Amino acid sequence: MLSPLLELFYPSLCRVCQRGVDSNNTLCTECLSKLPRTEHHLLRDNNVEMLLSDLFDRPRKRWYDRRFVCGGAWLRYNDDVAKIIHSGKFFECPELLEYLGRQAAIEWQQSGFFNGIDLLVPVPIHPRRLNDRGYNQSEYICRGMASILRLPIDTTTIYRIKDTEKQSQLNDEERKKNVEHAFHIPEPERWHKKHILLVDDVITTGATIRNCLKEITPIRSCRISVFSLAIAR
Ligand SMILES: [Zn+2]
Repeated sequence: MLSPLLELFYPSLCRVCQRGVDSNNTLCTECLSKLPRTEHHLLRDNNVEMLLSDLFDRPRKRWYDRRFVCGGAWLRYNDDVAKIIHSGKFFECPELLEYLGRQAAIEWQQSGFFNGIDLLVPVPIHPRRLNDRGYNQSEYICRGMASILRLPIDTTTIYRIKDTEKQSQLNDEERKKNVEHAFHIPEPERWHKKHILLVDDVITTGATIRNCLKEITPIRSCRISVFSLAIAR
């Protein structure tokens, strides 16, 4: 947040259209309303749930395995969404992601999508990546969500042990191989009888989130929901 004096010289601008807005790292009302919603919170067996349901006991029948509670992505990935998430991620303004997380939580809260969740769990990034960027983008999404949902954020149970983020040049098959066993949970009992919400920024092939889930599903008493800001499929 800039001081009032600085704001005279550097007014806050909408991250999409550059019109003046009340606070930094936000969008104007019009650009916010134009972002393409998926309405996944109202759709059972939506893209995210179908993409992940085979990891649970009954393939493609989510409702048979109550450990996978629900999944959804707030936005459909388009040029504007890509631009916003990209600048939040790479141009050192994680507050923008926090803002988006807050908006998503506000919009989905009434639907019951977040009911019964104990912990928000950002998909971890590798320590090397954390060192370069200075922050985990998904953790900022969680912070925004937590401010509305009043839930704790857990960043100390699941770890990324393989640096697999730079994979935009790889094809689907190579990506899949690249992220296998990328995550580790040293103390799985910490999630005993918990309902966790795994939070990601963008689901593309789903390989990252699937591999994260493969480490979590052996914790038989842990219930899991999945949330992503956007989905590119
Ligand atoms: Zn705007």
